[in-house]
Amino acid sequence: MSAATFDVVIRAPRVISDDGEAARSIAIRGGRIVSVAPVDAKLSASREVEFEADVVVLPGIVDSHVHICEPGNTDWEGFATATRAAAAGGITTLVDMPIDSVPATVTKEALDAKRAAALGRCYVDVGFWGGAIPGNLAEMRRLRAGGVLGFKCFLVDPGVPDFQALDAGGMAQALVVARDLDAPLLVHAESADVAAGIAPMSGRKYGDYLASRPKDIENLAVAQVIEAARRTGGHAHVVHLSSSDAIAMIAEARRDGVRVTTETCPHYLMLAAEEIPDGATAFKCSPPIREGSNRDSLWSGVQQGVIGSIVSDHSPCTVAMKEVATGDFGSAWGGISSLQLSLSVVWTEAQRRNHALAEVVAWMSEGPAELAGLRQKGQIAPGFDADFCVLAPDESFVVDPDRLYHRNPLTPYAGRRLMGVVRETWLRGERVDLRDPRGQLLDKGATAAVQPIP
Ligand SMILES: [Zn+2]
Repeated sequence: MSAATFDVVIRAPRVISDDGEAARSIAIRGGRIVSVAPVDAKLSASREVEFEADVVVLPGIVDSHVHICEPGNTDWEGFATATRAAAAGGITTLVDMPIDSVPATVTKEALDAKRAAALGRCYVDVGFWGGAIPGNLAEMRRLRAGGVLGFKCFLVDPGVPDFQALDAGGMAQALVVARDLDAPLLVHAESADVAAGIAPMSGRKYGDYLASRPKDIENLAVAQVIEAARRTGGHAHVVHLSSSDAIAMIAEARRDGVRVTTETCPHYLMLAAEEIPDGATAFKCSPPIREGSNRDSLWSGVQQGVIGSIVSDHSPCTVAMKEVATGDFGSAWGGISSLQLSLSVVWTEAQRRNHALAEVVAWMSEGPAELAGLRQKGQIAPGFDADFCVLAPDESFVVDPDRLYHRNPLTPYAGRRLMGVVRETWLRGERVDLRDPRGQLLDKGATAAVQPIP
């Protein structure tokens, strides 16, 4: 009798690996994938797990845009609640945004505070973005040395005291520093100049809110981002693209070799302004959800590969901050919390538009992992972490806010039927147990190239 070679072998009729969907066996040792072989390959393991044809084994979803407000605003969201929601939604890695916690992650000390708050509380792996604000160029180097995966800046005032916006010149300077640190600069691309010319709105009408954030606010800022990337050679990434007008600009710049990438979010791909009831502040985010025609154009951008990733932009707050009672779009917090639902939202809309699940994996696992430089995440292939989402793609469910794990389970998807039920989530070769936080904190060491496993 020979000793088992692997810790676990998973056999499934439907596995999405780099050459599409097929029946495969996945051999795992030490939390990493050692081989991906035909389903009946002779492999000796301590444990074998078999799945039926009603589920597909996908790489774990990677969400590079999540706001966890701990420390400081843990009543909005915390590491335990957010990562439990992530795990329930098939996400195995997330990257935290540097804004919304106190302190904001704009210094090495603030990063240390973040890591201390997260340590031992995470159900999935967590990495961190650092903030680029006026006057912290030197601090960006310390943040990178401390392990941040890249940087985030705003071109419009985010309305948070210790996270100020950069102007176009400041963004270009930050991009030079990020380039020299081999890291991307993520940009919230809404123009302060255009925004300043529009009177603040108030009231319950969604149309009035939409009119107060026209596409030009985004279009001008995206043009500035492209210009800075063209001039500096840095990698600029436009977060949460909502204006479909910007797709052609980004595509053209990419054809010229400019290092500019972009992402969009599940809500921009499923929801449409025409269907948002007045007073329904759960739908408020910025940039806003636009018309159905804009949503269709965003889908074309995804299909053409100009929009390379789809991420939640989980941006939580307390129920009171959402002004549910008054329904006032002017004063309500702008942000949508959908971490646990993002895969099902995207899959529901993708399959309606005749896209395959393998494409969803490219947008929601590979794309975000590549942006964050997480070279051991986002694929089922030898050398990668054994992180999986086991999805029943043909099963549906109705969204019940009481079954969401994020801290304040307010959602614009309440009552909506979605396709795709996450049956299990695996992290480093083990099923995630929602009572046992085994997630690790990732630093830039996790961006090292995959090594073959002997
Ligand atoms: Zn965000």
